[in-house]
Amino acid sequence: MTKKYDAIMVGGGVMGCATAYYLMKKAPQLKVAIIEKDPTYEFCSTVLSDANIRLQFNIKENIQISQYGLEVLKTFADDMEVDGVKPDIAFREQGNLFMTDEAGKASTQKGIATQQSLGCPTEWLEPAQVKEKFSLFEVDQIAGAGWSPADGTMDANAVLTGYKNKAIALGAEYIKGEVREILKVDGQVSGVRLASGDEIQADFVVNSSGAWTKGLTKTVGVELPVVPIKRHVFVVETNVEPDVEYPLTVLPSGLYLIQEHGSTFLVGKSLDDDPIGIDFAFDRNIFIEELWEELVGYAPAFDQLKITGGWAGLYAVNTFDRNAILGEWPGLKGFMLANGFSGHGFQQCHGVGRYLAELILGETPTLDLSIFSPQRILDNKPVFENEHKLV
Ligand SMILES: Cc1cc2nc3c(=O)[nH]c(=O)nc-3n(C[C@H](O)[C@H](O)[C@H](O)COP(=O)(O)OP(=O)(O)OC[C@H]3O[C@@H](n4cnc5c(N)ncnc54)[C@H](O)[C@@H]3O)c2cc1C
Repeated sequence: MTKKYDAIMVGGGVMGCATAYYLMKKAPQLKVAIIEKDPTYEFCSTVLSDANIRLQFNIKENIQISQYGLEVLKTFADDMEVDGVKPDIAFREQGNLFMTDEAGKASTQKGIATQQSLGCPTEWLEPAQVKEKFSLFEVDQIAGAGWSPADGTMDANAVLTGYKNKAIALGAEYIKGEVREILKVDGQVSGVRLASGDEIQADFVVNSSGAWTKGLTKTVGVELPVVPIKRHVFVVETNVEPDVEYPLTVLPSGLYLIQEHGSTFLVGKSLDDDPIGIDFAFDRNIFIEELWEELVGYAPAFDQLKITGGWAGLYAVNTFDRNAILGEWPGLKGFMLANGFSGHGFQQCHGVGRYLAELILGETPTLDLSIFSPQRILDNKPVFENEHKLV
């Protein structure tokens, strides 16, 4: 017998699980399914991410999504408790420091002004102030930095598992299976077909398939400007003995470092020649040949270090404007998109999950995210963060 649901999430990463949670929380009578092809999450971007949340965006709605996310994280453990077990997301409020050069200064300062107008505790630091706070850094190459002490990093898997377990506890079904085809009847989505051949019916299908979205949306004739691009993260053991906790620091080129603990740092950078495609091969030479010298130029103490690990994961890059694509695809009722997060989707799961649940339930959204509607692609109206968008 064909199963029928009110809503199906295609992909059980953080977007699918957060959306399922908000649906079940708001409307416990709903029949909701999360369909995930790999419940071990070996290649899922969520668990391969740096798991950082930042207020430093330029677009008002991106800032507001993060403000809501930071609120949610404060009570996340209690809210996601299942059978007495509370997820420990290990949130570290290290702050984020976005260094900028002259070319990026105006845009960074404009962003800070918007963030401050929304009540964010972000501020502009002159180079000397950066040096005073974080003495490891050389500041003669920078024009200053945006500093946001409320930002931080956490355990991505704990956030994902928190949403997943709570959604299931509230009544969502978690199904292991690979969706091969989205099904439609006339202009309305009608369900999905799995690799096993089974069909599952639904009034709403949420496309939360992350970097794997392209082939899937094509099955209903939808061409999304989203491609999988490989990104490396390197774990380096240094001789540095930081006197203070270091923030996630982004250099003007986009190279970033995160203090994991003690003298261990994560380092990464989005490179122009990062390959497009589903590819997870890790190459430590990229750090040695393309990142190390630049890092030492800003933080000389990193001239001696050991690469102790690392991994490669996928960004689902929106090549149109590098922002999320959210909401119903015009012309296909019930086909809901949560796509194209381009490296900042982990932190957006809270606001996006709530927004999609509200759209599905026909409620007025608490936070209007229609700026990210897919209609903008058809209208050729991109919404760019700024030309110095980094991570
Ligand atoms: C190296 C790296 C660092 C990052 N750092 C950050 C950061 O610091 N902050 C931040 O906000 N974001 C960061 N991101 C981005 C973030 O990880 C993603 O934007 C976010 O996790 C996307 O969540 P998702 O649920 O859409 O996709 P995913 O987490 O990839 O989940 C999609 C799921 O769908 C499943 N799936 C796919 N196709 C099918 C199908 N046909 N049938 C069934 N299941 C399917 C996959 O198996 C997968 O589990 C980073 C990403 C990478 C790679």
